[in-house]
Amino acid sequence: MNRTILHLDLDTFFVSVERLLDSRLRDRPLLVGGLSDRGVVAACSYETRPFGIHSGMPMKLARELCKDATVIRGDAATYTRYSGVVTEIIRENVPLFEKSSIDEFYADLSGMDRFFGTYCYASELRQKIIRETGLPISFGLSINKVVSKVATNEAKPNNQMQIELGREKPFLAPLSIRKLPMIGDKTYLTLRNLGIKQVKTLQEMPGEMLYRVLGRNGLTIWERANGIDTAPVIPFSERKSISTERTFDRDTIDVHLLRTLLAAMTENLAFQLRRGEKLTACISVKIRYSDFQTYSKQLKIPYTSADHILIPRVLELFHQLYNRRLLVRLIGVKFSHLVHGNYQINLFEDTEETIRLYQAMDKIRLRYGDRSITRASALGVKTLGRMTNPFNGQPPTILAHRKL
Ligand SMILES: [Mg+2]
Repeated sequence: MNRTILHLDLDTFFVSVERLLDSRLRDRPLLVGGLSDRGVVAACSYETRPFGIHSGMPMKLARELCKDATVIRGDAATYTRYSGVVTEIIRENVPLFEKSSIDEFYADLSGMDRFFGTYCYASELRQKIIRETGLPISFGLSINKVVSKVATNEAKPNNQMQIELGREKPFLAPLSIRKLPMIGDKTYLTLRNLGIKQVKTLQEMPGEMLYRVLGRNGLTIWERANGIDTAPVIPFSERKSISTERTFDRDTIDVHLLRTLLAAMTENLAFQLRRGEKLTACISVKIRYSDFQTYSKQLKIPYTSADHILIPRVLELFHQLYNRRLLVRLIGVKFSHLVHGNYQINLFEDTEETIRLYQAMDKIRLRYGDRSITRASALGVKTLGRMTNPFNGQPPTILAHRKL
């Protein structure tokens, strides 16, 4: 059965929110990101693109390239709030949807054609979002996620595009291979060195040839070039979460130990978020006392995957929660409301150095294991992860429910 998949993407999301809050910023070149010399561009308006500016670039360089640009320090909390408003409108109107990042959504509209045209339905949904939030948004509509996402990008800014059934290949053919999701800088260079520039060339090649050059990825790229993609829309669910907890052999009242352990657990979970390119918008802490009474408390936060932001919030929750002065049997930390995303969201507060520090620490972890490097605040804990502490026989912390 043919599916109907809608992809919705807010246009230059951070920039649009800033313009909504201050109309003087309209039609002006605008940079959002860290303000210091070491800051990084998190988002930039269309007016800055002819100057060669793109997100992730050092702010200092961007300011030199486009001297007229207004520079604004972004605010993750505001963007998270607007993202939530758009999510609610989609939730009210679409039975099955996936929130794939802070400003991107997929919806499966298969079968709705029997009642009304899906293109009409999508157009009305887009108009509704624009009307109710004031934010520009674009969509692509086709038989699968990949073709719809490419269509959205072709439709931008603030527009929409439908690729009729059977027109997937001719639609993709003239585009640059850059436009296919999955083709990053490295793959792009490899393919360019083979003289491949347009999607059309990929379509005309035998799939095995790409397999020989790029392995399994090569086959996926060939399928995408040919408009083939069977990935389902994964329903947005608040339950998507990762968590870890620790039961003590001997119940404890040692607050310093509990704090240290919570910091270590949070650090480990945050690393898992980053490794999976995820952000969390909700943290919860759980305590079980020796009498088996269990309490938990949760806190909504702006999207992040940075432990220097998460650890203080987790400890804050713990202090609100830990008030019975009883022995503690178990503690746990959970991150939920996960969406796809990377460091970009915290580029406003982070300097290039902080980002590099995270990247360097995560690289060490990927190579030598999650506990190979840690913050000093979590140093007291030697039993997290796979290892058991040989000195006290405490069991390792287990990652109980991982639903990434
Ligand atoms: Mg977007």
